[in-house]
Amino acid sequence: MDGAGEPIPLKNIELQTGLKTTCAYCGVGCGVVVKSDEQGAVSVKGDPNHPANLGRLCSKGSALDETVGLDNRLLTPVIDGTPSDWDAALNLVAQKFRKTIDEYGPDSVAFYVSGQLLTEDYYVANKLMKGYIGSANIDTNSRLCMASSVAGHKRAFGADTVPGQYTDLEMADLIVLVGSNLAWCHPVLFQRIVAAKKDNPKLKVVNIDPRRTATSEIADMHLALSAGSDVALFNGLLDHLERAGKIDRNFVSEHVDGFDDAMSAAQATDLTVTGLSAEVLEKFYAMWAANEKVVTIYSQGVNQSTSGADKVNAILNCHLATGRIGKPGMGPLSVTGQPNAMGGREVGGLANMLACHLDIENAEHRHAVQQFWGSPAMCREPGLKAVDMFQAVSDGKIRALWVMCTNPAVSMPEADAVRDAISKCDFVVVSDITAQTDTCELADVLLPATGWGEKDGTVTNSERCISRQRGVLPVPGQARHDWRIICDVASRMGWGRDFSFDDPAEIFREYAALSEVAGKFGKDFDISGLKNISREEFDSMEPTVWPISEAKSGGRFFADGRFFTPNGRGRMLALTPRQPQSEKTDDFPYRLNTGRVRDHWHTMTRTAKSPRLSQHMAEPYIEVHPDDASRLGLAPAALAEVTGTCGRAVLRVIVTDRLQQGDVFAPMHWTKQTAPTGRIDALVRAFTDPVSGQPESKASTVQIKPFGAAWYGFAATIQDINPTTDYWAKAATRAGWRIELADQSTPEDWESYAKELFGFPDAQVSTVIDKGRGIARVALLQEGRVCAVLFAAREPVAVTRSHVSALIGGSGGPGLLS
Ligand code: SF4
Repeated sequence: MDGAGEPIPLKNIELQTGLKTTCAYCGVGCGVVVKSDEQGAVSVKGDPNHPANLGRLCSKGSALDETVGLDNRLLTPVIDGTPSDWDAALNLVAQKFRKTIDEYGPDSVAFYVSGQLLTEDYYVANKLMKGYIGSANIDTNSRLCMASSVAGHKRAFGADTVPGQYTDLEMADLIVLVGSNLAWCHPVLFQRIVAAKKDNPKLKVVNIDPRRTATSEIADMHLALSAGSDVALFNGLLDHLERAGKIDRNFVSEHVDGFDDAMSAAQATDLTVTGLSAEVLEKFYAMWAANEKVVTIYSQGVNQSTSGADKVNAILNCHLATGRIGKPGMGPLSVTGQPNAMGGREVGGLANMLACHLDIENAEHRHAVQQFWGSPAMCREPGLKAVDMFQAVSDGKIRALWVMCTNPAVSMPEADAVRDAISKCDFVVVSDITAQTDTCELADVLLPATGWGEKDGTVTNSERCISRQRGVLPVPGQARHDWRIICDVASRMGWGRDFSFDDPAEIFREYAALSEVAGKFGKDFDISGLKNISREEFDSMEPTVWPISEAKSGGRFFADGRFFTPNGRGRMLALTPRQPQSEKTDDFPYRLNTGRVRDHWHTMTRTAKSPRLSQHMAEPYIEVHPDDASRLGLAPAALAEVTGTCGRAVLRVIVTDRLQQGDVFAPMHWTKQTAPTGRIDALVRAFTDPVSGQPESKASTVQIKPFGAAWYGFAATIQDINPTTDYWAKAATRAGWRIELADQSTPEDWESYAKELFGFPDAQVSTVIDKGRGIARVALLQEGRVCAVLFAAREPVAVTRSHVSALIGGSGGPGLLS
């Protein structure tokens, strides 16, 4: 070994050639190849062999390498704000949970978990809560994302079964996108549709969305329906299909219940509530009727509604009535938000289900799971769904809460109330990769978890494909895998024998064996073919669509007309359209639609690290129709104060006719850490679907008025700061940060103000001040380098952001502030 140094670990050799894992973000579940060069720099590219993406990646997936740095990373356990060690933290968590359960019963504790968890993490969390603590108070943030799809599937199919596959997109003649800005939220599936349309000029695309979005650009038809009127639209389609002679009478009579009642309800539906003309409706209905190979893709615009489950069933009714389900190129496809939202659905991450699609209300299912686990205290009834869970925290009924890998203080509806509830809770644990989030600030104990690139296990995407996420990067600091943390706590609570897993493969084997139990009950979810998988086979496991058992292997469901209901028949439902629960009033006359932007993810704890991703939409905003903007006195790029019955936000105004008069749209990503007045879920009412418990995140009502700023500013700085101005929003740049600012009082002395704002009291100053015009430009320099620049004016500052940001770190020189 002379001169050769330490042997290179096997993983490093693999990293140089490329190690396969799965993207951290959406439910498309793209395969990623991660490489590191000789200097250790990480790069990512799409996995050409992964069936979800075939080598493609979107902007978020391509920038994964920019998000793996350790800035703001939680690297040690923390107790009451003081760094601690694992033993002390785990002992404290176990003691507090044990004491709370002993004093107040098992339902006095709760886990709020995440679609970012891997299946193995989910499995042990669910096992601990439902089988050992004896409560079902474990719910996942996927409740906010696709619980209505789960409920709709169970009502129609008897199980939460996704009938089709992504390859249906390439085989379809008509793709209908409902409530889905696929171009921004599931971009690789959108790319697949764009490519399919190019290859098959016959392929038609219909986009159903109150708002015209990037997705509408490939649509042959855009139906800008009224918010929440999807049930009426698809009831009208069902009625049309019968009149057009497109009902598959054999399939319905042999395999489907509820047709007559569903049809009567459809025929009684008033289609004017859709806000669409008879001609537009007729054209869409005729297109659906004429193309047998039709795929209906839907996501949050359908699910996030107080009639979300009904909307799902209205879509499923049309596919069941025509038998257009589970066959190549046809069927409904609900696309999930998070990388492992589907895995959470399978493994029991929702409060109203057991693992492997077994039913919590079914005593035989509960007994079978308890026997399998040999567990002491099985839950007996569904636990609290997310909104109810945080209400119970607020009411003091839940006294110990463990939040895993999510940020409810900003992402739950009525976020201010949820934040206050968590802050009042007796004992709060947060396991996360990030040191500072809105929720971490409220924790008694912080537990450092591993993140994407370090975690090791499996995820399931929207087409039921199980893929490996592989630990390709070293685990930093004292971080531990989530499954390990949960098992460590379970062990300290006295259940070490049943949580003595050595690695994720061992957990996966137990999970696969449990699915054999589910298979015996006739459930769809069966991966028992993997129950003896070795560690080596697990490590090299290729993406695999379930079911995977001796009797069944992956593919489509329901073409044979066999469903998972007690009588084996699919169910159509009689559905009556309902309006969104928040009513427009004189005080709150605008309907607030919320959603994602292309390049950020959830509360941005990862994507905000990427300068590339942060440039796309660098601050929170609200889209307002030109007529409304004119009536409200809102100019483009001004700030608007938006108020609902439960919160307030200040947002940049984008005036656009992409949306309808009376509707406004705002993205959901910004937090106290990045834009304290941009927390959109503070405005969203916690009204839920009575069937699924999913909140109505797209139809709250608000009032809007201009925000009275005395000055607006744009700043760039080398140093991360949190201004004290009435409005600020920051985004990462290559050289530091860019910050939008506004305040209601004007500084007396801009030089001193800038020095204090940026934290450079001894900097050299260069200024251009024009008090008459209300303009101030200040540059701060240290050691001949520009460390901060502020442009301020009475109106929104018109300056090229990229140009000002690029000044940071330079030497300035003449014309610096021109
Ligand atoms: Fe990742 Fe989704 Fe983009 Fe694929 S489409 S690269 S899974 S964010």
